[in-house]
Amino acid sequence: MKAAFIKKHGNLDQLLIGDLDTPKIKPNEVLVQTKYGALNHIDVFLIKGWPGLKLNMPHVLGSDGSGVIKEIGSAVTTLSEGERVAINPGLSCGKCKFCLSGNQNFCKSFSIMGEHRWGTYCEYFKVPEENALKLPSKISYELAAAAPLTYLTAWRLLTTQANLKQGEYVLIHGAGGGVSTAAIQIAKTLGAKVITTTSDQDKMKKALELGADHVFNYITNPDYGKTIFSDITKKQGVDVIIDSVGKITISNSLRLLKPGGRLVIPGATTGAIAEIDIRQIFWKQIKIFGSTMSNQKEFREVMKLVFEGKLKPTVDKKFQLEEIFEAETYLKEGKQFGKVLLEIY
Ligand SMILES: [Zn+2]
Repeated sequence: MKAAFIKKHGNLDQLLIGDLDTPKIKPNEVLVQTKYGALNHIDVFLIKGWPGLKLNMPHVLGSDGSGVIKEIGSAVTTLSEGERVAINPGLSCGKCKFCLSGNQNFCKSFSIMGEHRWGTYCEYFKVPEENALKLPSKISYELAAAAPLTYLTAWRLLTTQANLKQGEYVLIHGAGGGVSTAAIQIAKTLGAKVITTTSDQDKMKKALELGADHVFNYITNPDYGKTIFSDITKKQGVDVIIDSVGKITISNSLRLLKPGGRLVIPGATTGAIAEIDIRQIFWKQIKIFGSTMSNQKEFREVMKLVFEGKLKPTVDKKFQLEEIFEAETYLKEGKQFGKVLLEIY
């Protein structure tokens, strides 16, 4: 099968296009003919590699994807050949105490599609039966590939972790990223008032179109925190902050939260080591949550809202599989607003 893969770690120029063997399924798995893959930032980290990461090369990337089932394993009972599916990119053992209690993303062997097993940037990929979700006929393959990873991540962090409520102020840093655009839409659906930041005039406009109530350009307006505190929240502070920026924003985020406010951290794109004023945490009794991916229940909850049209993933741009280098470069440079797709079949 045709595939985009790496043979060793390094920069984006390690990406290759070529022929690999079609994966062989186990009894509990299905083989899917890929229609679309969707890019995520984890791709860049995987290509670069990190200490302790051991991949069997060649390795196929791709955490999100959609397609048609071509073959089902002998133990599969809920899916059939020819069915259209999206996938939950969170993989777990299914047998441990965490998996059995519905906390699949606490599983010791939890991993992401395209991380420790071949992903979706190829003509055929395999997933366990429970990770394939049937698509309603009106849902396009594009949306089915664009939604899962970012929407399940944003859903868990805003609902299960932050418990965001109607009328609350939520600050979502970095409009334009996949998780942020999903979080803006989900927060509006939950009835919250959304404040977001970006570095780009065009992305400011798009964030407003998506439903954000206030957008700040953190380059041209580095004092945006004062405006949020004084003018928007009338010196009360923000209820919830989603901060995946890390090093350069974390201190400001702690300062901007109201007493009893909640800080959710799903990543740290500008650096993971930062100096913070711990007094902000105990004096204001701030709650801090980490969040990563989701469990199966949260995946199905958020996909139901996508299927009902209540959440609409933003597709920014489509590339062909052969253009993987251009697509990953586009994502790495942060040019996108929403998802970047790879058209495969
Ligand atoms: Zn498990």
